Amino acid sequence: MKPIRTFIAAVAIGLLGLSAQVSAQSKGTVGIAMPTKSSARWIQDGDNIVKVLKARGYGTDLQYADDDVPNQLSQIENMLTKGVKVIAYDRLIRNSPNVDYYATFDNFQVGVMQAQSIEGPLGLKDGKGPFNIEMFGGSPDDNNAFFFYNGAMSVFDPYIKSGKLVVASGQTGMEKVSTLRWDGATAQARMDNLLSAYYTKKNLDAVLSPYDGISIGILSSVKGVGYGSGKQKMPVVSGQDAEVPSIKSIIAGEQTATIFKDTRELAKVTADMVDAVLSGQKVVVNDTTTYNNGVKVVPAYLLKPVIVDKSNWEKVLVDSGYYKKAAIQ
Ligand code: BGC
Repeated sequence: MKPIRTFIAAVAIGLLGLSAQVSAQSKGTVGIAMPTKSSARWIQDGDNIVKVLKARGYGTDLQYADDDVPNQLSQIENMLTKGVKVIAYDRLIRNSPNVDYYATFDNFQVGVMQAQSIEGPLGLKDGKGPFNIEMFGGSPDDNNAFFFYNGAMSVFDPYIKSGKLVVASGQTGMEKVSTLRWDGATAQARMDNLLSAYYTKKNLDAVLSPYDGISIGILSSVKGVGYGSGKQKMPVVSGQDAEVPSIKSIIAGEQTATIFKDTRELAKVTADMVDAVLSGQKVVVNDTTTYNNGVKVVPAYLLKPVIVDKSNWEKVLVDSGYYKKAAIQ
């Protein structure tokens, strides 16, 4: 086997999440380090990137790390040899000078859209309120989690200042609202605590959730105390990744919206980077200022996220061929 010539890592937890290493038949092998199989999105990412790279004549070595940082680090260390180029996939690899490029979505914009998917249904723009809201953040060892949170708060801050949004628990800031490993059960337990401490006499109107797996945990918690039955309306709840259980939940009128990030596009952009790097061509990027990894600003290509709700799921997810309708209904 030829040595790995390019390595694609999706930093899972502070260091590396998805990595693709190319070990190719004719063109070389790409090592791919992905964070976890516990979420469908990362399985799709792995499948897509392997498919695209194989079609372009590369070999692939795809590995998953169960969201365990030391495990992923050792996987990556085994893939890397001197001179290998590293492309961070979706999650930025922090605190290393050896990250050459970064392929991802506009993560700040994801957060903005998550907040917009709450702002719209609540009618905040029309001056409605005050509403009670609670905030949930992603994993504090994932750089993206801060971008999502900051993007969302850029929309919410003025409403919090004007009193139209009230965080009854007072818990804001990633140090208070993050969810280690993006774990739905952890989020559900925190929601249970918030409900019993702050919402026995108040109504919870909305919850900022950064990821569908977390939304599902939050929804179980609120349903457990009666939201969604009788007169008690479900709170407005955001999400991310357009995972099948969440699309079903959106159709059922529980989760309000999610953010779709087309992993097919991300695989393509990443494979273009691999091709360009290995053939000495110019690598196409569209952002050279935003992603400082603690050591350097990593040149990035940012794709555009899309809000998906009850009104457009079929058009965005089924008509585009991302999901078969039968998988959802
Ligand atoms: C990704 C999100 C995903 C989250 C949890 C983030 O790094 O950008 O799409 O929801 O990880 O897996």
